[in-house]
Amino acid sequence: MIDYFIDDELKTILEKRISSLSKKYITVGTGITSSHLGDERNLREFIIADETVKYLRSQGYNTLFLLNDDSYDPLNFRQLRVAVNKDEMLIEKYKKYCGMPLTLIPDPYECHASYSAHFQNEILNRLSSLDVNVCIVDSSASYESGLYDFAKEIVFTKMEEIEGFCKNRFPTYKMKKIYWPLCPQCHSLEATNIKSIKGDDIEIICSNCKSDSTVTRGKIKGKFGGKIDTAVKWNVFHFDFEPFSKAYLDPDVGTYVIAKSLSEKFFGGNAPEIIEYGQVLMGKTLSYTLLPSLPKNVFRSIFLQKRKRDITLTEGKIIQATKECAVDEKNSFYDYVTTRLPHEILEGLDYKLVNRHSIDLLLHGSVFAKQFLKRDVLPKLPQENFLNSMDSQAVHQTLHIFNWIVDHKIEYPNETYDLFAKSLNKFLKDSEIGKANLFPFIRKLFSLEEGIPLSRVFFFLSLQSLYAYLFIIERPIKSSPHP
Ligand SMILES: [Zn+2]
Ligand SMILES: [Zn+2]
Repeated sequence: MIDYFIDDELKTILEKRISSLSKKYITVGTGITSSHLGDERNLREFIIADETVKYLRSQGYNTLFLLNDDSYDPLNFRQLRVAVNKDEMLIEKYKKYCGMPLTLIPDPYECHASYSAHFQNEILNRLSSLDVNVCIVDSSASYESGLYDFAKEIVFTKMEEIEGFCKNRFPTYKMKKIYWPLCPQCHSLEATNIKSIKGDDIEIICSNCKSDSTVTRGKIKGKFGGKIDTAVKWNVFHFDFEPFSKAYLDPDVGTYVIAKSLSEKFFGGNAPEIIEYGQVLMGKTLSYTLLPSLPKNVFRSIFLQKRKRDITLTEGKIIQATKECAVDEKNSFYDYVTTRLPHEILEGLDYKLVNRHSIDLLLHGSVFAKQFLKRDVLPKLPQENFLNSMDSQAVHQTLHIFNWIVDHKIEYPNETYDLFAKSLNKFLKDSEIGKANLFPFIRKLFSLEEGIPLSRVFFFLSLQSLYAYLFIIERPIKSSPHP
């Protein structure tokens, strides 16, 4: 049985909606804007949505997990700056596209069909690295294919009614534009306005290229204002659940509340149930450090806990979380990084590392050690001056222990740590080897700091590593100076 991070309150919300559904599948929806790839803070909603999807599937429901990309939204300057990593040349080259729909802008990195395709792909790759696998819905395609035409009909025939409804119901909310027409001349969305609607003809003025164009209702290109777009999307794709943070739920100006009213009044009445989540707050120095440092299950567990609470991430909290989150039956991620990683790095070509989980741990662990524990995890071979100064009793006892560990591991390959530690202690006692004198020597040999139990390191050391150490410490004894 897998435990999901689904609290009782959320279970009740899920059950209530599901029991009222006539359709036999469930849709969980989320949204992105493929304008840039931000830092880790905005990932919480997708991880929470994904956990919900996984839970629903485990309960036997066919569940669609949709990610709507607002790829027809206009690019703004702030997004551009982040998107191109503040590259002055690219900013200069691309600033002329600000105000145009993302999907109509060329890819700054010249590897995809458009700007939005590039960032959509980056976002999907990032989500997939966190085991969040969604079905993308591209809003440009929704507009272009005619999927939203029924709503266009409603918007153009009831424009004043919609405006009046919003004014009346949400007096403090000001809708910027009900419909953003695309300028047929310069492709700006930002700079256009509808000047008049006469029968089928719509007159568009554009302050960017100073043009005045008339298009028919059937041919006009553009997009709905955000709240209408949301209401239409909910009805076209039958969203049942969607994560929202508090800002979206504000009763006077929140997107959720306004879109729900618009949906009920004009566009079909569907609105998803709210999966509320708290914001992730963190200092700038942590930005972009979490994804490379934490394996996906550690990352997910940090973001999934206490769903509705805001979380403030600090280095201390991240380190604490790595001590609490297991990466396998035996170890927390922190244990793994401090005891096993230095040795696994020594055996990068080991057969065990062929599996993806091990590679994932190794790569994230090395970055985590450097970033959060401020140390490099390099293969730790003993220094030459240490080897030269080894006293022979310590060497013999170490060889004795290592040989015992090798034999023991071969004989009991699947032993638990507790049993191993017990056998080791018995062996040390029977062989009259005192830990007090010898263990500091072995610590030096491993360049291992205090605090990490040696028995644990012995337990995790692979046979290959043990052979390597046996070879290294045997050499100075056996080799004699050349004649
Ligand atoms: Zn690209
Ligand atoms: Zn124009």
